[in-house]
Amino acid sequence: MNEKIPYKTYLEESELPKQWYNVRADMKNKPAPLLNPATLKPMTAEELSAVFCDELVKQELDDTTPYFDIPDEIREFYKMYRPSPLVRAYCLEKALDTPAHIYYKFEGNNTSGSHKLNSAIAQAYYAKKQGLKGVTTETGAGQWGTALSMACAYLGLDCRVYMVKCSYEQKPFRREVMRTYGASVTPSPSDTTNVGRKILAEHPGTTGSLGCAISEAVEAAVSTEGYRYVLGSVLSQVLLHQTVIGLESKTAFDKIGVKPDVIIGCAGGGSNLGGLVSPFVGEMLRGENNYRIIAVEPASCPSLTRGKYAYDFCDTGMVCPLAKMYTLGSGFIPSPNHAGGLRYHGMSSILSQLYDDKLIEAVSVEQTAVFAAAEKFARVEGILPAPESSHAIKVAIDEALKCKETGEAKNIFFGLTGTGYFDMYAYQAFNDGKMSDYIPTDEDLAVGFAGLPKVDL
Ligand SMILES: *Cc1c(COP(=O)(O)O)cnc(C)c1O
Repeated sequence: MNEKIPYKTYLEESELPKQWYNVRADMKNKPAPLLNPATLKPMTAEELSAVFCDELVKQELDDTTPYFDIPDEIREFYKMYRPSPLVRAYCLEKALDTPAHIYYKFEGNNTSGSHKLNSAIAQAYYAKKQGLKGVTTETGAGQWGTALSMACAYLGLDCRVYMVKCSYEQKPFRREVMRTYGASVTPSPSDTTNVGRKILAEHPGTTGSLGCAISEAVEAAVSTEGYRYVLGSVLSQVLLHQTVIGLESKTAFDKIGVKPDVIIGCAGGGSNLGGLVSPFVGEMLRGENNYRIIAVEPASCPSLTRGKYAYDFCDTGMVCPLAKMYTLGSGFIPSPNHAGGLRYHGMSSILSQLYDDKLIEAVSVEQTAVFAAAEKFARVEGILPAPESSHAIKVAIDEALKCKETGEAKNIFFGLTGTGYFDMYAYQAFNDGKMSDYIPTDEDLAVGFAGLPKVDL
């Protein structure tokens, strides 16, 4: 054990990043622009501003400015739970008997329980600054809705959340946390929007999907005066805000004089992984350094590893702009995997482009193996991880075990995005031996691909 490296590397408040880093500025192949689904022309700022706050539209469309100042008000909020610690997983290393050095960045140190608060406060802040009354959004597993309700409560903004119906029913406590922070929560699909009513008529008894809840939240925003829509992942603006994770990590690693060799993160819509790796990818793009970066996704929703790189709808109701991304098709409904935050059909267009350019790798893992890794981690490191985060744990453990075979003392670094206290039914299924591993067949995936829009550019 290297005595010089502490279990936890904390940064000073003054070391909290003052700017977010926009990795697109250093990308030679820029992510493809969002397209207007009617004209197939790139979305203009004006078109986007009907849906999103003005300042966020600017961030979304900017692929040349490398740094954006983090407003003081947002930095003040960050100080309630940031900087987050970089942890050396000495106990896990010992349990695995590996020569590898394992590190993780823990983002579960706030009531919402995940990294999502980093972008929620930014998006709520810009909405408030624009003088809006409130925001609408969707939530799947509930982490994003919780984070946004906290941010809106802090700023005095109204918050309307469309929650995927199966989660609304399965996770009543999540729902009550949101209501405690003052948000209104509607199960989706609902009869409060045109698109919700249409989906209910076509698929009676549906338990909903993220894509469907997005459609409802967008419709609610554009049809209500003084409201805009906000999204918890996928968009480039969200990834930008999440770079606070990677920037802090980089500062902490520099402090202890360590360079990670392998960087691992779970990938749902891609925001935590994108934020975690952006500063490191920036170094790769500028030819300054090299890292191995691995995106981990569930085998039940394998957008990078089995999806197509194509323009697709971001939502089921097809009201959102088209994004070019690795996608399973907006009509793809993943099997009920317990990692609700990883069930989106597509992937951030920034990460998609980086993956297409082979700057990052991707692997998919099955959920029983993920929960086995989660339990191993909880028992030695103490933290009860979110199922989403546990995808990264699983692959970090695999990499550490490979080092055991080769005798290499690699520095393995992963993002621990959150805690799993609201996922105890999932843990229960695992503990009872009732968890299954559903992997879609090629025929299952073909259904989603058949619904991809025909876009010839
Ligand atoms: C939402 C969520 C994720 C996945 O979202 P990304 O945008 O891919 O980061 C991962 N972990 C946790 C704990 C989450 O809540």
